[in-house]
Amino acid sequence: MKNTKHPIIYHPSYDIPLPESHRFPGTKYSALIEELETTGLIENYLKYMPKPATAEYLSIAHDPVYIRAIETGNLSKQQQTKLGLPWSEILRKRSFLAPNGTLLAAQLALQTGIACHAAGGTHHAHWDFGAGFCVFNDLAYTARALIEMKLARRILIFDCDVHQGDGTASILSKDKNIFTCSIHCAENYPAKKARSDLDFSIIKGSGDEDYLAALRQCLSEIDRTNFSPDLVIYDAAVDVHGHDKLGLLEMTSEGIEQRDRVVLSHFKGRQVPIATTIGGGYGQTHEEVAQRHSIIFAAVQSVFHN
Ligand SMILES: [Zn+2]
Repeated sequence: MKNTKHPIIYHPSYDIPLPESHRFPGTKYSALIEELETTGLIENYLKYMPKPATAEYLSIAHDPVYIRAIETGNLSKQQQTKLGLPWSEILRKRSFLAPNGTLLAAQLALQTGIACHAAGGTHHAHWDFGAGFCVFNDLAYTARALIEMKLARRILIFDCDVHQGDGTASILSKDKNIFTCSIHCAENYPAKKARSDLDFSIIKGSGDEDYLAALRQCLSEIDRTNFSPDLVIYDAAVDVHGHDKLGLLEMTSEGIEQRDRVVLSHFKGRQVPIATTIGGGYGQTHEEVAQRHSIIFAAVQSVFHN
């Protein structure tokens, strides 16, 4: 029997051109698609492309003054340093596209049960400033947009990036219908953590076993809250990998795949649709990072095969 194809959301304008020495792997988005093509995993997916978000709509999650600064390239040197990326016309364009990629993934997931964004997870972006390579917060934006469109009543943002989802937690601190959960490494950026609805802090150097134990504990705590989400937005970041240049955890690729399967199976088993984002990942080469980002696409295929 032929398997059903799952939605993959991607845009050829996602790449951010940066000097090779830059810490952010700007071409990992196209490298990920190439990786999925090379391994044949792409055959299990149907491609969708987002349209850019309007400044007006983005203002449900961001200060209009900040949105305008990104639109016009009017960022101070200090703002650009905090963001960690130089402003460019290309950065402007992709910054308005990517949040809608996550929104499209969420909308498709509500229809099909699962959809994967080949970008997103920019969780350090705050209400009125960008930080840690994150311009706009696609997670907060998507969750608020779905509620405003009455497509969902309660949303869970499940963030497994090695860095805490501080921007998401702070933007959504008063949103009772959006539950923010972050599992991250205590010693990693940001030094000053925000307060998510549920934070799981893992110590530096932890490997697969410790991580997966914390993950299971975290999922059962969420169960106990009776929050019962209509949708989960999952940040399946790979900077938890032992070879990651920024992350201080020691997970293996097998451990990450297991993490993804545990998360996907958990929510699938409760009939909660899942939209995945790729989040952070930093390696010696963009190919190595792309390979790790392809893990979530393999995990989705194995958990959601028919
Ligand atoms: Zn990260």
